[in-house]
Amino acid sequence: MTLTVRFAPSPTGRIHIGNLRTALFNWLFAQREGGRFILRFDDTDRERSTRAFADGISDDLAWIGIQPDIVHRQSERVSLYEAAAERLKAQGLLYPCYETADELDRKRKRLAARGLPPVYGREALRLSKEERAELEREGRRPHWRFLLPNFGSDPFSPERRFVTWTDLVRGKQSVDLASLSDPVLIRADGSFLYTLPSIVDDGEMGVTHVIRGDDHVTNTGVQIAIFQALGLTAPGFGHHNLLTTLDGEGLSKRSGALSLATLREEGYEPMAVASLAVLVGMSGSIEPMADLEALQSRLDLSAVSQSASKFDPAELDRLNHDLVHQLPYAAVAPRLAHLGLPEGEEEPFWLSVRANCTFVNEAAGWAKIVYGDLPGGRDWSDEDRIFLDEALACLPDGPFDETSWKDWTSALKAKTGRKGKALFMPLRLALTGLDHGPELAGLLPLIGRERTVARLGG
Ligand code: GLU
Repeated sequence: MTLTVRFAPSPTGRIHIGNLRTALFNWLFAQREGGRFILRFDDTDRERSTRAFADGISDDLAWIGIQPDIVHRQSERVSLYEAAAERLKAQGLLYPCYETADELDRKRKRLAARGLPPVYGREALRLSKEERAELEREGRRPHWRFLLPNFGSDPFSPERRFVTWTDLVRGKQSVDLASLSDPVLIRADGSFLYTLPSIVDDGEMGVTHVIRGDDHVTNTGVQIAIFQALGLTAPGFGHHNLLTTLDGEGLSKRSGALSLATLREEGYEPMAVASLAVLVGMSGSIEPMADLEALQSRLDLSAVSQSASKFDPAELDRLNHDLVHQLPYAAVAPRLAHLGLPEGEEEPFWLSVRANCTFVNEAAGWAKIVYGDLPGGRDWSDEDRIFLDEALACLPDGPFDETSWKDWTSALKAKTGRKGKALFMPLRLALTGLDHGPELAGLLPLIGRERTVARLGG
């Protein structure tokens, strides 16, 4: 059987870096094993899901370099879920319940007052056919619960029943079904909650491994029980830790915080985002990986931390900076085209300034400094003024090249006796207007003789 994974976002917002962590764990795992990657939109919540969000999520994944082998939408597969629900009903494993949200809330409060866990007592199972008919006549519509297999012969006397599995991330896991309420699979309006469609799809699509956030661990206990009730083989499971903000708050699709769309707009490189999404909370250093293949070699699900990992924006900046620092010209050429750099100077310009850019778009600022007009009128000390005149006089002949800076400053040093900062700083300030920036050896040929002469005050 082909190894098959799926990433199953509900399209109720754009995905954030925490969702990307799930997508990449699945994608890299499948790539490594030569498997298939399914993108499945869990869009059974018709009110909150939109096609625009789904398309946006596909764009976000494409930006990172994830190309699904196939895309499914749960909204187009409802008849399969209905058929599965009918099978469960026929086995007496899916039963109608009529309590309102308020009634359930009161039940929970009563249990809490007696110091008992808020587990549903299966009261609806006791309803006779007539009582159910009466409730329906009153206008109540049932929601449907799955009868968890946590009892011997009497469903009103639950017993400890452990569902166990060996988690790809967390090792041996078990969930006691007696500690849980029978899960609602179908709402009173007839719509499906996430639980059953996910199982039906995983079964029908041949999903062999489900890798998702550890907020689903308890769900997995329930879902394995439902897989078994439907006669389906449950896939393997892996639950990775979640990402939080630095304050420890969970990330949310709805708030749009740290969405891939925003990070992209802010100018982050996809591989900086991907590297952090995967490597944070995993043993080993967090470094920018050049491509997804390199990142794949770092994937080790068993080395993922079991407590939440904090997303640190400063870390993302560092990765972006380190990555930009290594980007060859070809990787950024389309993004520099609008700068109108002089022909033939595009590549040397990029190679000169990239170490001083955290974002590729900062190259625009350096282009202005190299090729534009600098604000004049700096107040030089008399000593520096004399020094700059000397500098002007010592400029090497001919067009500048990569050795010109060294030749120039060696001559100046010999002539003026200045060295170190006293030698370089006035030149940097005169040539760029700044006290920091890219190596002047690289910039000088780009600034060229004419601008250099003018900036030295000649
Ligand atoms: N739509 C579910 C979610 O976003 C998918 C969970 C799963 O991978 O099974 O939480």
